[in-house]
Parts: sequence; structure tokens; C-alpha cells
Amino acid sequence: EIIRDLINKHAIFASINQVVDYDKAALVATDLGFEPSPAAATESPAVRSERPLSANEAMMATRDDENMVTIPPVVTIMGHVDHGKTSLLDTIRKTKVAAGEAGGITQHIGAYQVEVNGKKITFLDTPGHEAFTAMRARGAQVTHIAIIVVAADDGVMPQTREAIDHARAAKVPIIIALNKIDKANANPDRVKQQLAEIGVVIEEYGGDVVCVPISARRGEGIDELLDYILLVAEVQDIKANPNRLATGVIIEARLEKNSGAIATVLVQQGTLKMGDNIVVGSISGKVRAMFNDRGKRIQKATPSTPVSILGLPEVPNAGDRLEVMPDERTAKQQAESEAEKRENEAMPLGQVSLDTLYMQMQEGTVKELNVVIKSDVQGSLEAIKGALSKLSEENLKVRLIREGIGNISETDVHLAAASGAIIIGFNVKADGAAAREAQREGVDIRYYNIIYKLIEDIQAALVGMLEPTY
Ligand code: GDP
Repeated sequence: EIIRDLINKHAIFASINQVVDYDKAALVATDLGFEPSPAAATESPAVRSERPLSANEAMMATRDDENMVTIPPVVTIMGHVDHGKTSLLDTIRKTKVAAGEAGGITQHIGAYQVEVNGKKITFLDTPGHEAFTAMRARGAQVTHIAIIVVAADDGVMPQTREAIDHARAAKVPIIIALNKIDKANANPDRVKQQLAEIGVVIEEYGGDVVCVPISARRGEGIDELLDYILLVAEVQDIKANPNRLATGVIIEARLEKNSGAIATVLVQQGTLKMGDNIVVGSISGKVRAMFNDRGKRIQKATPSTPVSILGLPEVPNAGDRLEVMPDERTAKQQAESEAEKRENEAMPLGQVSLDTLYMQMQEGTVKELNVVIKSDVQGSLEAIKGALSKLSEENLKVRLIREGIGNISETDVHLAAASGAIIIGFNVKADGAAAREAQREGVDIRYYNIIYKLIEDIQAALVGMLEPTY
């Protein structure tokens, strides 16, 4: 309605996630019968939310603030195994970090920052989409740009496609790094063709996806790649407000024998300072020491800066949101109420179980039943898919987000958790780690060995007739 009004009455073209300034907002508000008045500029406390904010939401939360400044992009490297993700991360680190740094030995804290032409770029140090998915499953999105590494001698492979799916699902722009061009059997044109076939059309072919030929081994094309990252970042207009209480996301965390819990935080908004009272989920503490990716003690960290911190009494989970509270008491209260909430919560937010599907559908919280299917053989998989697609004619659609042969893995659980999906195992089991993770994330796994029973259950769930299982 707002977009229509802007276009029809005021000839202002707006898209759904665009921010309009006060004057335009006031025009529309008046049209729609409201009386607008400008809000007093306030130093907004950390925006409270049921779940961690996505990179974009974190950005939008203080969009209207005059203090917004351009921040370094946060980049994740994904792609098929052995295509060169780790090599690329290492090469960038070696060529850009060590140069000119006094004692520039990097510490592996889960992320590092490089400087290119005076501009910074933050790289997440865990390659692959597992970490990306695990974070997204916890509601955290920290990545602004995804580099998809494709080996020029091997081409588009299953995990290339998966990585692209994940980046797209998270609405993160993609840059293709066409790696291993030094190899005699490299065939860049074939890769570009394959990419086009899965809908990733590079600029050379008339699309809008940047593709940079590189050799991670020889260090070729790395500068171009970094330049393109900065270019894409500029178009994205990535901003944050450094002048507020900080919020961020835990990238990784571990227990050290002597110093206790060490957590790497990627600051998203505000500036994290020594002595800040922090809360991460149900844990509260104080920043007692802070180190950057070179292991150097620092006093404060601005947005997109990865820092490892000491001062949390327990080890938090990767993907958890960190918030700075105005004082210790508030931090404690906040942590306690979060602990209470978690205790009362039967199921993590956004999760679907087949037993409660009908209820969630009635409430309007679920309109599609997302499913991951794992089966022992291709034949059964096809049969199940065929039968499920027929069910999709009901008022609720069944959407297959992943299918595969073999046991249910941790990756399957993460994808299901991130997408609010249930997992169906046909004649397969869940790996130990997958089963534990499913329990923790509240992902519903159903096991079957008879196809009609499986279909019957889904059908029954769709119409609210499923016998509850205990
Ligand atoms: P990852 O599994 O995607 O992290 O891949 P790695 O970075 O571990 O690389 C897999 C293999 O490919 C290693 O043996 C690397 O040395 C090799 N490799 C990576 N980049 C290049 C490259 O640009 N050229 C060549 N010839 N080999 C490469």
C-alpha cells in the first residue's frame, strides 16, 4: 500500500526494503490518515529481539541514525571440497596481512581483516557453507558477500551448487573465484557455461555476477578479487553506527585452560570496549581483555572487526548474539530472563514438527512444509518425491529443500534448522552428531521403512489428523 501510494501519488519509486526519509514517510503517513511527527533523535539502546539480527537487519535497526558510517564488508568463502577455499584464505592472509606489520603473525580466531587501498575487508576463516548454515540456523547472518570458489579444472560440483543455494537463500551477493587457472587442464569457459546452466550468469555472458580468474597457489588474480570485493561492497552500501552500545555475533568460542572462555566476536553495530557489560544468550559478563586477529591487545572494536574476548563465565555458542548492556545489573537480568525463557521453550523458535504442523498452519505461522529427505536408494527417493508432490495440491505446500542418499548428517540438520524443515529418513539412520544436534535445535526427524506409511503421516499432518507420537 505504501509503495503504491508513493508511486501513484508522489511519483517516488520505492522498493520493499528501501528506507525513505522523513519527508516522504510523512507524505504517505498523511495520505493514510496518520499524523506524522519526527522522532527525537535518541541514543537507542540495543534493539531487543527474539533472535539474533541478520546482517541486514542489524544494519536497518539504526538506519535512520545520522551516525551511520560505511563499514568493512564481511566475506565468507564457500565452494566444493578441494576447490581451494583454504588455499585462497591462506594466500590472502599471507600476501595482505604480513606485509608491513610489525610482528604481523596472525592468530586463528575465526576471522581476519586485511587492508586494500586503505579499505578493510573482513574474512570469516571457516571456509565452507557448514559454518554459514550453522550460523543462519541460529538466526545470525554476518556475511555481506559470498565468494564461491570453483576449480577451473573440475567445474561446478554438488557443493558448489549447495553453496550457491545457501548464499541465495540468505540473499547475499555472490562473487565467483575461478580458481586453479594455472592448471593445464583448466577450462574456464566450461565452468562459466555450467554456472549459467544453474542460473549464475556472469558479466561476460550478460549477467550481473562478477567472475574473477585466480590461482590461489600462485597468488594470481588475488588483487583483482579483492578490488571486486570492495566494488561489490560499495554497491551494497554497508553501514553501521559505531556510536552506540555494541551488538555482535559469536564466531567461535572455546575454553582455555588458564584464561577460561575465549570467544571471538564479530562486532556488527556500535563499538565494543574494554569493561563493557555484555550478555550472550543466558550468559552475562564483562569484557576483561580484548585481542585482535594479530593477537594484539586492543581497547575497542568497531563494526566488522573480529576480536577475541575474555570475560564470559561460560563458553557461548557460535552464532549467538552478543549485546552490550548499560550496566552490570541489566546484563544479569537480561541473561536470567533469557535462561528462563529457554527453559520454558519446548521448541526453538521457527521450528516445525509434524505433530504441531496443523496447529502452526492454523495460526498462519507455517504455509509450506519444508522437508529434507534422506533415503537408502535412489528408487525409493524418487517414489517418495512423486507421492509428496501430489500432496502439494492441498492448501499447504510440501517443499523439498534437500534430497540425498545416505544417513542423516549434521549438515542436513543445520539446513533443516535454518529453514524450519522436518527431516524424513527412509531406511536410513541419523549419525550420532546429527541426532544430538537435532535434539538441541529442535529439528523433527521422522524415520520410515514403508513408503505409504510415510505419505499417510504427512497427509494426516496436513489435515490435522496425525496421531501424536510420544
Ligand atoms: P578446500 O578443500 O576447498 O579448502 O581446498 P584446498 O585449499 O585445501 O585445496 C585443495 C588442493 O588444491 C590442495 O592440494 C591445494 O594445494 C590445491 N590448490 C588450491 N589452489 C590451487 C591453485 O590455484 N592451483 C593449483 N594448481 N592447485 C591449487
